[in-house]
Amino acid sequence: MSGKDIEINLSYSNGYIKLIHKTIKKFINVDEANYQSELKRTLNEIGVIFDFDRIYIYYFSKDPSFMQIDCQWNKEGIRPKRDNKEEEVVYALPWLIRAIKNGEYVAINDVKELPPEAIFEAESFYAEGIKASIIIPLKNENGLIGFVGYESLTRTITWEDNQIQILKEVSMSFAHTRNKIEKLKAYEATVKGQAILLDNSQSQIWALSNVTSYETVNEAHAEFFGKRKSDIEYQDLYDVYDIDTANKLAKVNWKLFQKNEPAEIELEIKNSKGENRLLQIKSKPQRDAADNIKYLICTAEDITEQRKTETELYKAKELAEAANIAKSQFLANMSHEIRTPLNGIFGFLQLLELTQLSSEQREFIREAKSASDILLHIINDILDFSKIEAKKLAMEKIKFNLRTTIEDAVSLLAPKAAEKNLEICTLINEGVPEEVIGDPSRLRQILNNLISNAVKFTKKGEISVIVDCLEDNNGIANLNFEVKDTGIGIRREHMDTIFQSFSQADASTTRKYGGTGLGLAISNELVKMMGGVISVDSIYGQGSTFKFNIKLKVTKRAADYKFIFEKLNDINILIVDDNDNNRKSVSSYFQGTKLNVIEAKDGNSAITAILSNSNTKNKISIAVIDSQMTDMSGYELATALKTIPSTKEVKLILLTPVNQKVDSEILKEYGFAAYLAKPVRKHDLLDSIALVMGLKKEYKEEQIIIKNTVKDCLKPRILLVEDNKMNRKIVINMLKTRSMTCDVAVNGSEALKALSEKEYDIVFMDCQMPVMDGYECTSKIRLIEGDKKHTTIIAMTANAMEGDSEKCIEAGMDYYISKPINFEIMFNMIEENTKERKSMDNYNSIIDNNIDNLVRETGLDKEDAREILEDYIKAMPDLFSGISESIDKRDFNKLAKVTHELKGSSGTLRIVSIYELAIKLEEAAKKQELDECISLFIQIKDLCQ
Ligand code: ADP
Repeated sequence: MSGKDIEINLSYSNGYIKLIHKTIKKFINVDEANYQSELKRTLNEIGVIFDFDRIYIYYFSKDPSFMQIDCQWNKEGIRPKRDNKEEEVVYALPWLIRAIKNGEYVAINDVKELPPEAIFEAESFYAEGIKASIIIPLKNENGLIGFVGYESLTRTITWEDNQIQILKEVSMSFAHTRNKIEKLKAYEATVKGQAILLDNSQSQIWALSNVTSYETVNEAHAEFFGKRKSDIEYQDLYDVYDIDTANKLAKVNWKLFQKNEPAEIELEIKNSKGENRLLQIKSKPQRDAADNIKYLICTAEDITEQRKTETELYKAKELAEAANIAKSQFLANMSHEIRTPLNGIFGFLQLLELTQLSSEQREFIREAKSASDILLHIINDILDFSKIEAKKLAMEKIKFNLRTTIEDAVSLLAPKAAEKNLEICTLINEGVPEEVIGDPSRLRQILNNLISNAVKFTKKGEISVIVDCLEDNNGIANLNFEVKDTGIGIRREHMDTIFQSFSQADASTTRKYGGTGLGLAISNELVKMMGGVISVDSIYGQGSTFKFNIKLKVTKRAADYKFIFEKLNDINILIVDDNDNNRKSVSSYFQGTKLNVIEAKDGNSAITAILSNSNTKNKISIAVIDSQMTDMSGYELATALKTIPSTKEVKLILLTPVNQKVDSEILKEYGFAAYLAKPVRKHDLLDSIALVMGLKKEYKEEQIIIKNTVKDCLKPRILLVEDNKMNRKIVINMLKTRSMTCDVAVNGSEALKALSEKEYDIVFMDCQMPVMDGYECTSKIRLIEGDKKHTTIIAMTANAMEGDSEKCIEAGMDYYISKPINFEIMFNMIEENTKERKSMDNYNSIIDNNIDNLVRETGLDKEDAREILEDYIKAMPDLFSGISESIDKRDFNKLAKVTHELKGSSGTLRIVSIYELAIKLEEAAKKQELDECISLFIQIKDLCQ
């Protein structure tokens, strides 16, 4: 400090302090508009009181490495701290900034006392001529925001505590005020921004304080009603709007308040132009501390146009759907109309075939039948397709034998494949269940479609059908089917579209191969309905593999062949086929048996295998030989084997192409013990082996005839109810071919009359007929019959839509046959439903033959004896059908049980002939001797003739 400098010790009176506090208080309440002027005045007051030369306030800029003077004061005659408000760099005062950042102030009594590290500060102080100064930091919640400097250019100052304290407080009030003003500015900017958003929003926005009172609204809401915001805000609905509008709004508001949570509602209301507009209102309650609704914030969108478009779209969709249903209905009707004449064509062709014909005529009929078959196939496809489109296709759920169904599908197409010289083989892998629940005819339909395509699109090579069971969880089998061919293949770009309806890989396919393009679309839907997917892998020019999987409930896992093959355990069988897949397929049939399978892929290897094993325990007993092999045909192989002594004993079974006529005498000469047409079915092959090995006696001629004799001697009483003359003619003539006749009624009411006069075994009932249709007629018959009687009524109809069969059953009919009529089914139904009466007629001889004996042995009078015998006879048909059924199913337990019953009653009534045979039959059943059981049953039946 220089000697010239005057050191002043300030002492402050209470008056000063009061004045300063008053100033501070006033300053604190200052608003933005007066902030700068008040600040300046305050600085002036402080400067005067404390006799400073300059006071200045710096605030840091947004970029904190800069700062700027916000306000400054200087004594008269002293130059201002800065001439203009420009940003300055903070790092010009590094020591000072560091010091105020950490401390509460920096007091410099004399510039000479500045510490050595304050180089820049000292330089600046000297340059500005500052003698003493106190710098007080300005802080807010985020830290340092600036600083205030109090300076003297004329003297040094010894800063006193109370003086510092006052300056600190004053300075704090500056920061506080500035902070407050900044925040207010920011808030106002936000509010302004939000107001801009709200008022420019297309959506209407408003807040309600209660059901009828507005709090605030945006422009869009006011504008909708042709009002200004100020007309609506804080107003009651009923003061703002006409009564109708107010009522509507109040009603909606009430509902929204009631919800007490975010809600949505639609309101149709008139706008300012009197147009009806549809508003979609969304509301959200805003709650107070006590969780009561303080405001209900609502937004609304005008959805009038949107709804109109939606309604139009919906109408268009409805129309399109209706048109689609109409189209499907039309297709169904058409197919009904086509089926009726087709029934005629089929029927008459079948009848014609039974007449005397030249071979040329027979050939023409064959062609006509094959054309009708194709036509029927197409119609069935169209019908199925329309059923799927109309969502009327239902799946059956019945127990069926999976292997038989697959083999049926393959067999059906085997002749076609054979015609083209294509091998077709089936490989049903281990683990595939024997019996499942599902729709066998639909599964057959999918397989038929895929296999017939494979045959159609393959010129040479082979087709294989492979079935696997992927997993079997909780009794549900996930079955995987593969139909593989070596045909023309499909281009990649066509692979997806071929599953769409009417879609064929390319136009040339249609020209060359024909087809409707519906088969795969139908299969695709059927697979979907069975819970699976269908797909294709193909290499163009090399072949295709169609795959699909379905889920079916398992009822029987694997077939039980133990019974037949127990005696053949460890016997060696040789499968000879040059086609790998065929050989594999045939070999797979022996899974589950204890036969040892050896494979040979040509004649020479077969001879080697037989010779090399001849003196070992692997001695081959049976050889299953394919007839067509490249190196050596089946016949040549048989001839060769016959000439070698050690191979002579091997039993030979020949597999022949399905289309090849075989002369069994010639086969015998070659040394074959049996032959089977390909593709061979597992059951048939195993049966043949059992036969060849002497495990099973061949059915005697009369045993085979048994089933037919039943048919032949039927004299069923049939009523045909049919209005169509042509259909009547066909059925009548068909019946004639089996020496059967029928009565005819041309409508329901005639049928009722006929039934009132005569008993019928079976009524074939058309559904659509004039006067009284089949449904009404059946209901009436059932009403008349009550519980006392039940005539079998079978619907015969060309309606094949879903629900048609249910409609028949609901009306009281027993079965359903669709047209064109499958006459095999018709005759089966006749046979099944006529059995009982036929039996009853024939059993009467039992009474005549045994009544005297019964009277003699029991002392009953003849009338009582007849009555008892009649009761016995009445029970016979049931017992016989029980026996026949058990034999068919090889259910020996049931057979023994039913026969036991027959034995008991026959013994009691002294019908010795039946009694003795029943004893034997029961024993044979217990021993499970099938052939013996069949033979005894025939003998028992003979007694009843
Ligand atoms: P369609 O055979 O009656 O034309 P599909 O729906 O059964 O109708 O088949 C559609 C198309 O898919 C066929 O026209 C054919 O182009 C192609 N396709 C189907 N199966 C095969 C196959 N195994 N090999 C080659 N192309 C096939």
